[in-house]
Amino acid sequence: MNAETKKPASGEPILEVRHLVKHFPIYKGALRKKQVGKVHAVDDVSFSIAQGETLGLVGESGCGKSTTARTIVRLQDPTSGEVLFRGTDLSTLKGGEMRRMRQNIQMIFQDPYASLNPRMRVGEVLREPLMEHGITRDRGELDRRVKRMLELVGLDPQFENRFPHEFSGGQRQRIGIARALMLEPSLIICDEPISALDVSVQAQIVNLLEDLQRELGLSYLFVAHDLSMIRHISHRVAIMYLGALVEVGDCGDIYQSPLHPYTQAFLSAVPVPDPAVQKERGRVSLEGEIPSAIAPPSGCRFRTRCRHACPRCAETRPEMRELSPGHWVACHLAGGEPGTRPA
Ligand code: SF4
Repeated sequence: MNAETKKPASGEPILEVRHLVKHFPIYKGALRKKQVGKVHAVDDVSFSIAQGETLGLVGESGCGKSTTARTIVRLQDPTSGEVLFRGTDLSTLKGGEMRRMRQNIQMIFQDPYASLNPRMRVGEVLREPLMEHGITRDRGELDRRVKRMLELVGLDPQFENRFPHEFSGGQRQRIGIARALMLEPSLIICDEPISALDVSVQAQIVNLLEDLQRELGLSYLFVAHDLSMIRHISHRVAIMYLGALVEVGDCGDIYQSPLHPYTQAFLSAVPVPDPAVQKERGRVSLEGEIPSAIAPPSGCRFRTRCRHACPRCAETRPEMRELSPGHWVACHLAGGEPGTRPA
């Protein structure tokens, strides 16, 4: 089924990110005591994810999407903002409380080679979270759960005695997915889970994630820079530029009618299989370099590369506005003032 026609389960959001900020201070001097600036990695990012929904978070390398993902699960502490999981603010939880909460929120990492302990057999990798979280220490129960999980992710249960180096990249990512699922979470943060894999196995992993979502009702935050994969797997898409969201909406709206000039340029770089359509569509080229996240531009962060920029864009940061149901855009001119709307 095409991602643009399938509907996520509706209902209360399982995750709400509100005004999330993550700055990294920059220190100078031998003792690194004097702060001389900060990297604005994530600046006032807000979005939500419903039960059974996949939100694709996409942007160029260094735009802050992975930092957003890591801050949500508290691999890094946020500078400010709220991360509400079923109403509980994760950003205020202390060590033990957050550890317990991780039972519900798991992460799949980009590099399946680096995310598995090379000295542990697959069975041990999968049993570890169950024992650490006190779910069970019963040997028979642990073995049953490991075998069932290996089958669920499409691996032979006999593989539990092998070491990670005995597997291909795609198989290792399946093990990473199995490990994330052992605690039966309801939300999985997928941080570029396919970008380290061969193109031939990327689709297999994405299909597996979709099957698991249907079977288990999982919600995903799917971080990637590959727009084609994001389109395939996501119900909604959030576009990020220099630490801020610029457009959020249903997959179909974003890909067919992008309203933010950055989204238009970003999407126009994705090749279309039909050469005639490709030729007619043309390409919106982006001028200049991405500004430094240490000193982002005033007002709209995209203004130094935007062909529609006007004085107002330098003075005021554009708020996210809902221009059609569920389609949010952070641009002063999008959908508004006649004759000035970004083409
Ligand atoms: Fe361009 Fe101004 Fe819109 Fe920013 S607010 S995207 S600079 S037109």
